Amino acid sequence: MVSCTKCGNPNVIIKRKASGQALCKDCFIEGIEKKVIQTIKKEKFLEKGDKVLVALSGGKDSVVTLEILNTYRERRIIDLCAVTIDEGIAGYRHEGVEIAKAHAERLGIPHKVVSFKESFGIDLDEIMAHENHRGSCTYCGVFRRWIINRAAREFGASKIATGHNLDDETQAILMNYLEGNTENLAKIGPKTESNSELFTVKIKPLREIPEKEIGLYALAKGLDIHLAGCPYAQESFRMEISNILKELSKDHPTIMYSTLRGFDKIRPAIKEEFQSSFTFKNCERCGEPSSNRLCRACTFLEELGH
Ligand code: SF4
Ligand code: ZN
Repeated sequence: MVSCTKCGNPNVIIKRKASGQALCKDCFIEGIEKKVIQTIKKEKFLEKGDKVLVALSGGKDSVVTLEILNTYRERRIIDLCAVTIDEGIAGYRHEGVEIAKAHAERLGIPHKVVSFKESFGIDLDEIMAHENHRGSCTYCGVFRRWIINRAAREFGASKIATGHNLDDETQAILMNYLEGNTENLAKIGPKTESNSELFTVKIKPLREIPEKEIGLYALAKGLDIHLAGCPYAQESFRMEISNILKELSKDHPTIMYSTLRGFDKIRPAIKEEFQSSFTFKNCERCGEPSSNRLCRACTFLEELGH
């Protein structure tokens, strides 16, 4: 019978193919937290006195991000706040918002819920009723970034933490590489910074943790998470890439780690060569930073006649 590689406990909850390790619940939880703390140190994500805004959807990634960053808050190294975005997706978003609220309340973290409707006068369900829409996820991504960036300034946050995990990062690397999108490739990394003061630095503390293990960590810690899938989620190129990576990982369990490690090594060269360096001005409509007359959010809103 397999027992925990670290402490010998016979109640093993995970066997890692990549390292051959078997771990019991306590050693697994400790291992994940250690790894995240290592990433935070290595990437210099946090400085004493930082106020970090967590983009908290209520899903496993953001809940675990909040939970682990809260250990820094408890030690009075950083301050935390959270924002949850209500896109206006009937039958789906409400539960996530309630779960997010409950976590923020449990930990005593200042939290606000901001809707597409109050920010843009239109919600995602209404957008999807338009004849010539661009696909749900395109609006979601752009509008969410707009809200999170503004919320960070309103909270006076010095960093924004997102729940991007190892799977998300390797999918992005492979996708953009296969599409030859060097400009997007140059944007991938542990931290996203910009030359506009109106943008807040974004950090990804879970970047080196596989998605599956984040789910298991949430389960092991008994954290309530929003599990439902978005009704608009459609077959996308990203999903195809995700399936390829999952399939490959079966026989090559370290493939995602090596993809990320290799990319991180060549990242400085990619950035140097391909990073676009436009200067930001303020969007004429909303005042948010933009490389054009109108930011992407306002361009979409004008298209929708809003
Ligand atoms: Fe938005 Fe749903 Fe697409 Fe996610 S899957 S980006 S929630 S529309
Ligand atoms: Zn704008």
